[in-house]
Amino acid sequence: MRPKVVAGNWKMNGDQAFSRDYIKSFKASWDSYSLKQYSGLSVFIIPPAILIPGVQACIDDSDLDVLVAGQNVAGYESGAYTGEISASMLHDFSCKAALVGHSERRALFGDTDNIVIDKVKQLLARGLGPILCLGESLEEREQGLAERVVKAQLEVVLDTLEVSECALLSLAYEPVWAIGTGKTATPEEAQAMHEFIRQIVADKSVELAEEIVILYGGSVNSANADSLFRQKDIDGALVGGASLKPDEFAEICHLCGRS
Ligand code: PEP
Repeated sequence: MRPKVVAGNWKMNGDQAFSRDYIKSFKASWDSYSLKQYSGLSVFIIPPAILIPGVQACIDDSDLDVLVAGQNVAGYESGAYTGEISASMLHDFSCKAALVGHSERRALFGDTDNIVIDKVKQLLARGLGPILCLGESLEEREQGLAERVVKAQLEVVLDTLEVSECALLSLAYEPVWAIGTGKTATPEEAQAMHEFIRQIVADKSVELAEEIVILYGGSVNSANADSLFRQKDIDGALVGGASLKPDEFAEICHLCGRS
């Protein structure tokens, strides 16, 4: 049985006071939904890097069983890379994972496939789990290219890894047209792409395909999450906007945990 995962990407939002209030409210919602009961559920909070130590401290103080991840990581180990944050720094601050290849990074910050590969490798070398984001633009979908684009994004990374290196890898299918737009893929559209993605992984290793966690992302909220989580190849969600509201994020975790 695959684990279920819900990850909340705060993007470039929040500050220290927000972090404190957030974790306090999330803890209250966590208790009221008894999220502890869902032993197969992992919850990640993904704050901006500068807030990671504060968020981690609040989580520790509230005795919450929640993991922290990075939104990004350098494709280099260390050295003269001003402004970058390495995988070992994320590790040092107790992060267990980081997003790689988020569509905002690909579109706005020039994260090419080769850079994505370097970032995945840095994370794996430090024992952190890359959450590799994949997804097509609206134009690509309308041109019937969605599967081709996602396949290329995934294969370019899988081809550089041994099966044994993929144990910590998870995937997030995030159609770019659904991110922050209020448009979600229908559960059937999302399921079809998740099944397709799992098949690509199966071409590398059938066991890996059975085990790999594939999240859906793109305007997920408490109203649409349940029908997504009922799909057999959707193992959880990468949540942006709705993760900024701790009670709503907890409800999404609850819907995932019970699915
Ligand atoms: C995201 O940032 O990965 C995301 C899915 O954002 P949103 O939920 O706001 O569409």
